Amino acid sequence: MSEIPRKTTHFGYRNVPEDEKPEMVQEVFSSVSRRYDLMNDVMSLGVHRIWKDALVDWLAPRSRQRILDVAGGTGDVAFRIVRRAPGANVTVLDSNEDMLAEGQKRNVNAEGGESVSWVQGDAMAIPFPDRQFDACVVSFGIRNFSRIPETLDEMFRVIKMGGRLLVLEFGQIRNPGMRQLYDNYSFRLIPRIGEFLTGDRDSYQYLVESIRKFPGQDRFAGMMQQAGFQNVKYRSFTFGIVFIHSGWKI
Ligand code: SAM
Repeated sequence: MSEIPRKTTHFGYRNVPEDEKPEMVQEVFSSVSRRYDLMNDVMSLGVHRIWKDALVDWLAPRSRQRILDVAGGTGDVAFRIVRRAPGANVTVLDSNEDMLAEGQKRNVNAEGGESVSWVQGDAMAIPFPDRQFDACVVSFGIRNFSRIPETLDEMFRVIKMGGRLLVLEFGQIRNPGMRQLYDNYSFRLIPRIGEFLTGDRDSYQYLVESIRKFPGQDRFAGMMQQAGFQNVKYRSFTFGIVFIHSGWKI
């Protein structure tokens, strides 16, 4: 009898069985969690702060809104939202308990920290009923999911009518010179910096490889439309290194 072939997906540049990827992603983020925020500052020379602020600018959160930060990790975006809109409530959903634990440590001293709550769970099976949130945001999370369309369907389900999704993610740089420069930096330097600061070169090798495996801004916009989002638009930042996609549930 012939065996049914197992579905595969990418883990960085490797193809792995789809059901094994979540565990591998867990190992990456457990390993880097303690130095995750520091590494973001070092790797991006602080520019990730500007990108995340741009996400919050476009979101324009208001008091009393309920916002879900999917794959929210240490809450870096959630804290920005509650600082911008005191009285908004942000739930950080993440599958990794070590990342959430780091976020909760930050929560103690964070301005507006009492408006942030922390839930461990999977973006592919969001543990909330339908139409609970005014908005969902995802910052640098999408490319880690094994099945992106399922997460988009899930976010569409939990967003209220009239609500929206905003996604910040690395894009595909179109300018060849810029792409070469960026590739040199990310493949030669980032794994080394990761090894120096976290003792874990492999996780940062995965992170830079996974950036190249993101579907690309146009295909991703199509995936959002496929999930039901309307008026899908994207903006490019820093020579196309990152993109923010926006779509509405209307
Ligand atoms: N959003 C944060 C930020 O921008 O700093 C954290 C981004 S971090 C690169 C990616 C996060 O995605 C990790 O915290 C990881 O645990 C989380 N993640 C990966 N797969 C997930 C899944 N299936 N469900 C929920 N979270 C997931």
